[in-house]
Amino acid sequence: MRISRRNLIGGLAAGAVARAAFRSVSDLAFADSPPATTPKPAAESIFLSRNENAYGPSPKVLAAMQESLAGGNRYPRTEYDSLVNKIAALHQVRPEQIVLGCGSSEILCMVGAATLGSGRKLVQASPTYPVLGEFARSIGAEAINVPLNKTYEHDLDGMLARSDSSTGLVYICNPNSPTGTLTPRKDIENFIQKLPAKTLVIVDEAYHHFVARTSSYASFLDHPIDDNRVMVARTFSKIHGLAGMRIGYIVAPAEIARRLSTEPLRLGVSVVSAKAASAALDDSEYVTMAARRNANDRQEFLNQVNARMLRALESHTNFVMLNPLRPVGEVLEHLKKHNIVVAPAIPEMNKYLRVSLGTPAEMLQFWRVWDLMPPQKMAM
Ligand code: PLP
Repeated sequence: MRISRRNLIGGLAAGAVARAAFRSVSDLAFADSPPATTPKPAAESIFLSRNENAYGPSPKVLAAMQESLAGGNRYPRTEYDSLVNKIAALHQVRPEQIVLGCGSSEILCMVGAATLGSGRKLVQASPTYPVLGEFARSIGAEAINVPLNKTYEHDLDGMLARSDSSTGLVYICNPNSPTGTLTPRKDIENFIQKLPAKTLVIVDEAYHHFVARTSSYASFLDHPIDDNRVMVARTFSKIHGLAGMRIGYIVAPAEIARRLSTEPLRLGVSVVSAKAASAALDDSEYVTMAARRNANDRQEFLNQVNARMLRALESHTNFVMLNPLRPVGEVLEHLKKHNIVVAPAIPEMNKYLRVSLGTPAEMLQFWRVWDLMPPQKMAM
């Protein structure tokens, strides 16, 4: 059966549930975004809250976007397929295995809609990137949250213990957001092998490019396993600096990709986004440079953390979970007062705040503002 955005959900659940699902795709509260009632921050605010690439897209990508603007009067024609073909060649898979979306958030929702109907459950870590869990709940599906282990890896034994024949989907975010931590590849492979036969797995590799070379990590696209239950989501929002262009993709077994892919969906990816993403894939030099730059920025951030004797989790991403050793609410209040926006606190890790890495000038200002806080005497 071909599944469109419309019949995808309609086919899974009764009308009311389906309506809730459609509303929720656009309404989903991104954990990274301030709630709708938050007053608009001042124009000169520094945004260190949504793990964007603070430097923007590469000059070559900007040029491609500018060039494509003149075609803005036309519906996309060949752009969707050209980008799909390029992604397929990059990952050495068939084009039928690729589906594009307006950011990987949309992809996560599409996969949730296709796999979580009729009482099927989602199993995921906690905390993790929340969009899929929120989507599951919005269509009335149960989302089972399994706390990360002591080293902030997915507790795969715990997730396995909570998975049974009613588990439609397992979500693994690696590196994980909001912690920035890795779960060892070998452990994930063992885990997948032991899952119930009909349980699908989506590995979210939004931060893949920021991981430094280490034996405990390998992308499921660069080193695929022979298992037709595994899908991988990627985004152009992070290393490529295209968050505002809203484009991401999934690589899935052809049979699953077919269920997600529809004609209307192909019109959901704009000409400019598709051209930008295509140029971004061609500009591998920028990706290499951006990864190196991020590693330097992250090290500099940790140097500042150490100089103040604060604590931070080891990050493999473009953001860091920081323990300020003082009440997080106070710190957030202080930063906000000085127009610095970081991610909102999360209950599962209420001693930490997540800081996305900005440009050197932005980080200088961040620490300047930080040092305006009165010294903290007692460690928490
Ligand atoms: N996955 C993770 C882990 C993320 O942190 C994000 C955004 O912050 C996304 C997916 C979604 O990115 P986008 O919808 O911009 O592609």
